[in-house]
Amino acid sequence: MRADPMQRAIDEDLVRVLYAQDPIAFFSHWFSIAVLVAIYWPNIPSPPLFIACFGFYAAANCGSLALWICNRRYPDLVTPRAWIYLHALRGMLLYSAPGVAIWFAFQSPQTDLPLLHTVMLVTLAAGVFMSNGFDLLNFSTAIPFLLLPSIVLHFGTHTFDRTILAIVLAFFFCAINVYALSYRKLFQRVVQARVDQQYLAESLAAQKRVAEEASLAKTRFFAAASHDLRQPLHAIGLLAASLNDAAATPLQHAKTAEHIVYNVEALNQLFNQVLDLARLESGVTQVIRLHFRLSELFERVGSQYRPQAAAKGLALRIAPTAMVVHDDPVLLERVLSNLLSNAVRYTEEGAIWVGLRRAGQRSGGYIEVRDSGIGIPAEEHERIFEEFYQVANPQRDARQGHGLGLPTVKRLVGLLGGELQVRSAPGRGSVFRFPVQAGDAGGIVASLNEAVTGGPSAQGRRVLCIDDDPSILEGLASLLARWGCSVRGARHEIDALEALGDGFVPDAVLCDYQLANHRTGAQALTAVRNVLAQTGHDGVVTLLITGDMASAELAALALQGIPVLHKPVTPARLRRTLEMLWQQADLDKGRAAAAVERRAGEPRRAQSELNESNEGNEVGREPQNSLQTKPQIPLRNQMQSQSQSESQQ
Ligand code: ADP
Repeated sequence: MRADPMQRAIDEDLVRVLYAQDPIAFFSHWFSIAVLVAIYWPNIPSPPLFIACFGFYAAANCGSLALWICNRRYPDLVTPRAWIYLHALRGMLLYSAPGVAIWFAFQSPQTDLPLLHTVMLVTLAAGVFMSNGFDLLNFSTAIPFLLLPSIVLHFGTHTFDRTILAIVLAFFFCAINVYALSYRKLFQRVVQARVDQQYLAESLAAQKRVAEEASLAKTRFFAAASHDLRQPLHAIGLLAASLNDAAATPLQHAKTAEHIVYNVEALNQLFNQVLDLARLESGVTQVIRLHFRLSELFERVGSQYRPQAAAKGLALRIAPTAMVVHDDPVLLERVLSNLLSNAVRYTEEGAIWVGLRRAGQRSGGYIEVRDSGIGIPAEEHERIFEEFYQVANPQRDARQGHGLGLPTVKRLVGLLGGELQVRSAPGRGSVFRFPVQAGDAGGIVASLNEAVTGGPSAQGRRVLCIDDDPSILEGLASLLARWGCSVRGARHEIDALEALGDGFVPDAVLCDYQLANHRTGAQALTAVRNVLAQTGHDGVVTLLITGDMASAELAALALQGIPVLHKPVTPARLRRTLEMLWQQADLDKGRAAAAVERRAGEPRRAQSELNESNEGNEVGREPQNSLQTKPQIPLRNQMQSQSQSESQQ
């Protein structure tokens, strides 16, 4: 617990217990006044002073009750600490009168009066200990007023029995102070335990609320997802059944097959959107920031959506910008694509505008996507970011989207460290905007639109496939064989190592992530790579294929830049990825060979070059995440944009 709330809780409890005793104290003090006046009555010493003193006592007692009433009626009038101070002041005034009044006893000719008055004071001190002992301030402002005058006056008599009485009183004074000390500690511990318990109960209740909300959100998510997934599945089932109809003409069969393909594509698209979202949630998505010209990204995305906009008679305007940004171009492209696709979908006339707004004097700015479309009512501005939420698609027509675009965009912008903002009103169009960081033109290593051309073919490559599922192994083998690869299948790590032992040196190793016997693909790949390195075969392409989303190990692999493909992997995607990885490996080999040649020719210069390259070499730090050097940018961009293009609306 932090100190402040704890101190406040202690103060609040103190106020409660201090003031709780006051009505009883009020009557006790009237009793004390009555007793003292009675014992002095036969021979009142210094009557005016006596009347003043006891009048003050009675007034202080009434004031004490008034303070108690105030506290009950207006507890929030002042802070708990202030109530404690006020109570201490009340104690000081209230207890000073009977304490000082013992002077009258020593003025009286009655020799037993000091003793009787002292007994009264000790009784009052016991009451103070019980009702105020747990607060240092209240205790220490009452007890000295009560007891010190009588101790001093008894000592002053210089008689044996009074001196003994003074010593006993002094001992009593010290003892109740010591007891009050432990009384206070106990009180604080009790309050601390109560506050901790209350804090625990509140945080448990808050966690329960969060868990319930999350569970409700998940239920809503699955209900909507299962509905949207069932629709095309249902259609495919019906259409597939109608293929058995012998009476149907070949033309009807062709039409049915076309519908089946359409529904399979819709299903695939929805799957990819859901998986994209899950990938973002699980934290396996890498952010790789590069310096690049924003205009290139605008150009890329604009060229994708210009035909669609033109088909609806909309103008797509891209504001020219010379800004260099430092951001992840692939993730930014996904954000922009989603926003533009929405802008085109929800605009019937007018224009769509994409541009950058500078953020005042600060570096960086905001990318804005504006449209003159139907707009979004203010009360929907929060809900449009919920999964599967659509403003106006009650019949959940899949052609009008699934409500997953904006939730994905929001997470992507969050991953990039920004916040997605929306400004929109019905009939007045919409503006979506998010921040981008300013970059450095000197840091640009490649044009975004530079494509990998002339990728190496799969023909003649040797591929080692590791998967514990025989049907997948068989499917992969026949696919790779069709591309001209020679394939060796392995059900587990030991099989794979045996294949290497037989002299099979692969150009690529494809490995499933979840293997039998609780082994992971990462472990299998490490073992295979170690054996290959021992036999001098470094730089073999490795690729993990997984259906897993939320594994910490996968997130770590993603951070290391180990290529990971998420199921379902289409043949085209697998092939493009393999070709790019091979191209990357060939480039690395070529560069390494050139470096060796140079070193052989110029031993001394080569050494200094090697030092230089090591200093700036990101590859050295992150073996597979070699994205900072020029040829590797398109590779990673393309790997991610494949997944994006497959999942885009
Ligand atoms: P989808 O577009 O697939 O329905 P999104 O998550 O991208 O899903 O958007 C959620 C909802 O937000 C949409 O159904 C739509 O009603 C609203 N919306 C999003 N972008 C716009 C826009 N540019 N103009 C008007 N409405 C929009």
